[in-house]
Amino acid sequence: MASIVLRSATVAGAAVLVSLLVVLALGFLASDLISLDAWIIGTICPVLIAGPTSAYMFAQGDRLKAAHRELARTHAQLAVAHRRLSDKASRDDMTGMLNRESFFAALEHARGKAGGALLIIDADHFKAINDSYGHLTGDEALLLIAGAIKRAMRAGDVLGRIGGEEFAAFLHDADEREAARIAERIRTEVELILFRPVERIVRLTVSIGGALFLETMTLQDLMRSADLRLYEAKRRGRNLAIVGAAVSRAA
Ligand code: GH3
Ligand code: MG
Ligand code: MG
Repeated sequence: MASIVLRSATVAGAAVLVSLLVVLALGFLASDLISLDAWIIGTICPVLIAGPTSAYMFAQGDRLKAAHRELARTHAQLAVAHRRLSDKASRDDMTGMLNRESFFAALEHARGKAGGALLIIDADHFKAINDSYGHLTGDEALLLIAGAIKRAMRAGDVLGRIGGEEFAAFLHDADEREAARIAERIRTEVELILFRPVERIVRLTVSIGGALFLETMTLQDLMRSADLRLYEAKRRGRNLAIVGAAVSRAA
């Protein structure tokens, strides 16, 4: 408010100055004495006109600026809410990993960059866990497996839950050796889980199939290649990781 009064007073002062200059110029042109009335009118009129008008305009301008600031704040809050919503929509509620669609979208995106490996990780005999201890306990086991997989991953790699008890990981820039090392780390980390739904510890294991992403490959080729190795790992007895030609299993 004080700033509006000050700014309007400045404008009114400037208007008075200009008005008095005009009075002076007219008197000079008429080569006559300027009457007191002319000085008074030349002073009062601009104050009465410019003062309230500029005060009104400054007040409107300030209101507009405040509305703009409010709008920008609301925009920023909306953008945050939108980001949160789309992040939530892209994730699996249970594990917090990317859901199937988002994982494959991320994989498609990663395809543009050179190199990397895909791991498909499937919980072994998981139906038996549900059958023996119930679906809710099965959920707990699944969460423990998801946690173990997350712990074994490198920061920045893409991780998703692509099926009920099936996960997938894309390892950026990993060669066969690195991919096999991480697959083995996942396998071991799951094997070390202390899952105790009853008196005794129940063993949780995963089988892993991994394939290297070659430039000539389509996504389907890559998935098929990793899937074939996963089936091979299951066929050879489970709790096993096969990446490319590398095989690793529990001692
Ligand atoms: P395999 O070693 O051959 O993979 O055997 P499996 O029993 O793990 O495989 P199968 O495909 O026969 O069964 C998968 C089981 O995983 C059946 C299904 O009920 C269970 N499952 C899938 N999603 C969930 C889930 O979110 N929670 C629970 N508790 N179980 C799930
Ligand atoms: Mg399974
Ligand atoms: Mg499965």
